Amino acid sequence: MFDAHCHLDFNLFDSDRENVINRAYDEKIGIITCATDNAGVNKTLNFYDKFSESKRLFMTFGISPTNFDENELKNFVNNVETYKDKLIGIGELGLDYYWIKDEKAKEQQRKNFKNFIDLSKKLNKKLVIHSRNAENDVLEILKESKINAMLHCFSGSIEQALDAIDLGCIISIPTAACWSKKRQKMLAQIPVENIVTETDAPFLSPFPERRTDRNEPSNIKYLVEKISEIKNLGVQTAGDITEENLRNFFKF
Ligand SMILES: [Zn+2]
Repeated sequence: MFDAHCHLDFNLFDSDRENVINRAYDEKIGIITCATDNAGVNKTLNFYDKFSESKRLFMTFGISPTNFDENELKNFVNNVETYKDKLIGIGELGLDYYWIKDEKAKEQQRKNFKNFIDLSKKLNKKLVIHSRNAENDVLEILKESKINAMLHCFSGSIEQALDAIDLGCIISIPTAACWSKKRQKMLAQIPVENIVTETDAPFLSPFPERRTDRNEPSNIKYLVEKISEIKNLGVQTAGDITEENLRNFFKF
């Protein structure tokens, strides 16, 4: 089993980060942790080395599409180029039309996104995409760029998921699918070979009655159970297939 996307650098993990990682390891769950700003990069580097030898902890660096600060953008590119050998991929980055509605700003997002795609091609790194209310534009840009990606916390339609799969993308489903009917429908209608699992921790708790609780990578097991139920597979098989999908995609 694997948590394909979470944010272990967040302050919510400051008091017990190592325990959180070890709890996931105890359940045989691997982790890809994602830093989303330059302060997060520094924090992630602080714990990455200690746990990466296990080959069960990997990292990506990204930058929010709502961040237009020139210095932050420049530092992000510098960080990616400096630490490229340690990164399994670049992201999350992409397009967010939920928070950004101004047309000029959206155009700037698309410009930044295309620059990051060029960076990922130059460094031969896989992309992890954040898309909110922007799936059509994301897919069009990926298609134009002839590149595939992991679509983190995918929230588009089933048609868009299938289009993305045609482009070679993998669809990352969050632990919120343990209670979200919409996400369960998505799980039912896309092939298990194209699905990977994520917590997006500390967000998207699997527990419907405790939705705002801190989420953590060890909770991936509840999502794998849900997938095994929906896809009519053994739990072990569902965990193995979704982990294999991730390994094939990132080639590790
Ligand atoms: Zn995230």
